[in-house]
Amino acid sequence: MISAAKPEVGEEERAAVDRVMRSGMLAQGPEVAAFESEFSTIVNNFHSVALNSGTSALHMSLLAIGVGPGDEVIVPSFSFAATANAVGLTGATPVFVDIELDYFATDPAAIEAAITPRTKAIMPVHLYGHPANMPVIAAIAKKHNLLLVEDAAQAHMAAIDGVPVGAWGIAGSFSFYPTKNMTSGEGGMVTTPSEEVARSIRVLRNQGMEKRYENEVIGFNTRMTDIHAAIGRVQLTKLAGWTAKRQANAAFLTENISGVVTPPTAPNAEHVFHQYTVRVVDQDRDAFATELAARGVGSGVYYPTPIHRLPSFGIDLDLPQTEIAAQQVLSLPIYPSLTEDELSTIVEAVNAIAKAGS
Ligand SMILES: *Cc1c(COP(=O)(O)O)cnc(C)c1O
Repeated sequence: MISAAKPEVGEEERAAVDRVMRSGMLAQGPEVAAFESEFSTIVNNFHSVALNSGTSALHMSLLAIGVGPGDEVIVPSFSFAATANAVGLTGATPVFVDIELDYFATDPAAIEAAITPRTKAIMPVHLYGHPANMPVIAAIAKKHNLLLVEDAAQAHMAAIDGVPVGAWGIAGSFSFYPTKNMTSGEGGMVTTPSEEVARSIRVLRNQGMEKRYENEVIGFNTRMTDIHAAIGRVQLTKLAGWTAKRQANAAFLTENISGVVTPPTAPNAEHVFHQYTVRVVDQDRDAFATELAARGVGSGVYYPTPIHRLPSFGIDLDLPQTEIAAQQVLSLPIYPSLTEDELSTIVEAVNAIAKAGS
């Protein structure tokens, strides 16, 4: 069976963990500081602040820029629930908008239409590793004087108009969950051009204190450990190579797959293929996935239910592109260590099932 996703961890990561274990310094320390400064190099040398998850990265970012009760934050409904959870946890209201179906990315026109006097921030998601249309979204944020926060959890090293994701607004959030393009076990990172926002997040992650026992605000413990940072540092050195491999795998699949809609890349975008997501248009998507599994090919549906309809939010909204995507998307294996044989198996299985029809 070719698995749907596969974290790439090896000897170097094990050695890094061992080095930290032997040092006796396990909690946030020098490894975290080194990971932060190394991560900055892929996001315009912005300030980077490491956290215990991508969700914490989003949550702390929103708190640091002053999002709270009474505010609205515009988010896509077609994303992982963490996007909206981070907003809800601040006491603010997530306002769900539709996507552009081609790129599965937050629709700029829908964002602009959803702005109200209560809107405080816009939070586009670079879903599957394809950047949202940031040149247009950034212009909308500027025109309406709104804060721009990027959910870049799936898009390490993606870029649009040559500008890396995470560098378009006041804060960008990345995740290092095992199946993301790089991992630290669990973990997250905020990138920001603002020294003030970076400081605020450092304080929030550490019980609200910069100086020990001189707590300034009510804070959290959302620190990353040195063990996780050591893994992340090794992975960061491999990220560019893995990204190139993901892109090459995607090019092969797109060239050879037929009968389903393959994912296009916008002309000004660098797509890092966290997922390679096709749309099954004329057949039942779930039956298609079952057939794939029978032929030894794992796949995933990200995400079967739009966030606004999950019981945790339970809102009645008409987001037609989101509904189509939720019904049609199917992510095929794309991870860097796929072999040529496995890639061929994926192509043959998809083409055979698509040809057989519903
Ligand atoms: C993974 C993910 C998150 C949350 O990251 P965690 O590290 O799992 O907390 C947020 N948003 C999106 C779009 C994600 O894919």
